[in-house]
Amino acid sequence: MIARRAVLAGMAASATMVSVKAAAAGRLSISGSTEQGGLMVGKAAPGAVVDLDGVALTVSPSGIFCFGIPYDAAKPLRVTARFADGFEELREITPIVRQYDIQAINGLDEKYVAPPQEILDRIAREHALITEARKRVTEGLEFALPIEWPCAGRLSGIYGSQRILNGKPMAPHLGVDVAAPEGTPIHAAADAIVAITDEFHLEGGFTLLDHGLGVNTCYLHQSKRLVTAGQRVKRGEVIGLIGHTGRATGPHTHWGLNWFEVKLDPSRATATPTPPQG
Ligand SMILES: [Zn+2]
Repeated sequence: MIARRAVLAGMAASATMVSVKAAAAGRLSISGSTEQGGLMVGKAAPGAVVDLDGVALTVSPSGIFCFGIPYDAAKPLRVTARFADGFEELREITPIVRQYDIQAINGLDEKYVAPPQEILDRIAREHALITEARKRVTEGLEFALPIEWPCAGRLSGIYGSQRILNGKPMAPHLGVDVAAPEGTPIHAAADAIVAITDEFHLEGGFTLLDHGLGVNTCYLHQSKRLVTAGQRVKRGEVIGLIGHTGRATGPHTHWGLNWFEVKLDPSRATATPTPPQG
């Protein structure tokens, strides 16, 4: 009986310690999917300095910051917050490793169509524009989860899928595809400023939205773009129409979510893992 009481007392003491620790740790909160490809949103406090694996993150005036978990990340990510009063907190995020859909296709004709140099040059120029735009941090935009699906439809391509053709691995598909009828309205994932909207060779009708704190989304293969560069859009606002322009076999949008250059899985940042039924 005495022994049992001692055990209970011990449990109570450790429970109290846990809650005290939790209260102290409550100064830093981080939410989002910890799977590979997940986008995390953290909140520290005004004036806090936050770094990810030793690299400083952009922190909004109210203390919000973002970071992404790369698709092949395996080691824990270390987030350190230093508050204005000197209090310091460390959080380790261990990525949940995923099994991606990998298809090996062998016995294909080795002959392939190499685009002419002028097309390769055009693709390189267009990708340089996108890369540049993704480096920007636009002030005054404070990203928040979850994001909106661009449209109702069928998930026709998933994040991380990869084909290995005759033993040669192709680039993994680091976005999702939503198939919907031509002309279906496409909606902004979150409040944003239009960073790029243009017609590109591979992407077709392309729009890149900057949501702040390094977070951006892109919408490919649009039949019609309904916004202009520099325009401010609200979450859910119609920005274009579904099409199959650029390298696309049928009407859909390839939808990408990035944290700077890190390509994430948009279906892990939405309220549901699949789009509403079309
Ligand atoms: Zn795609």
